[in-house]
Amino acid sequence: MAIDSHMHINNYQLDKPIKAMALKRINKDHNIEKAINVGINLSTTREAIDLSERHSKLYVAAGIHPLYIENQDLNELFTLADHPRVVAIGEIGLDNTADNYKEQRRFLISQILIANSLKLPVIIHSKNCNFQIVEIFKKIVKPRYGCVFHCFKPDEETLNYLIANDYLVSFSGLITYKNAKRSLEIARIVPDNLFLVETDSPFFPPESLRASVNYSSNLIYVIEKLAEIRGTSYIQVEKRTKENTLRLFPKLN
Ligand SMILES: [Zn+2]
Repeated sequence: MAIDSHMHINNYQLDKPIKAMALKRINKDHNIEKAINVGINLSTTREAIDLSERHSKLYVAAGIHPLYIENQDLNELFTLADHPRVVAIGEIGLDNTADNYKEQRRFLISQILIANSLKLPVIIHSKNCNFQIVEIFKKIVKPRYGCVFHCFKPDEETLNYLIANDYLVSFSGLITYKNAKRSLEIARIVPDNLFLVETDSPFFPPESLRASVNYSSNLIYVIEKLAEIRGTSYIQVEKRTKENTLRLFPKLN
């Protein structure tokens, strides 16, 4: 059984039937043992905590995504994150599709400090900002309890920095896409102990299901693709990524 290290059931909030379907599918799915339901602001974090109290497979990452920082209170995030089902602070990071860089930076730094004081790992969102995020780690504050760059975008210099610091990268359905050449190269060379798998559902369904809503069940396609490019078996990738996920997020144990 595998662990989906990054998904968003609470993003289904606009469409109740799809959300109900996502919950039903994950509860029944024998391939998925646990999943981290990732908050993007206070309300989705609150909802993820509520769902985790009612669905035993669901855990929570509490965080404010760089595109959703408006009207968000970091003190409240701190209070919410101090919950037994919250296993990480995330997703947090920088995103160059918005122009409020200074504010994004302030939120990222504060949330790394929150993670460090709660002894939690961080889940990083980086949209064309790998370099700027690594600069913050080097010059201002470093995640002290582990870090994963989710949906990692290929960049060998950042990969080398992450490897040197025992930080991880995570692969999603994006690696099944036809234009994923450079991601596949990274997926081929990353050390066995430093990668995770995720669906980032409801986004990024695997290539063969491109037109549909993505669910945690589709994690099998990500594992399959990784096994293929790393020249190993499905079972090996599943086992490795599970070990890595439990090591990075000890509260999942
Ligand atoms: Zn996400």
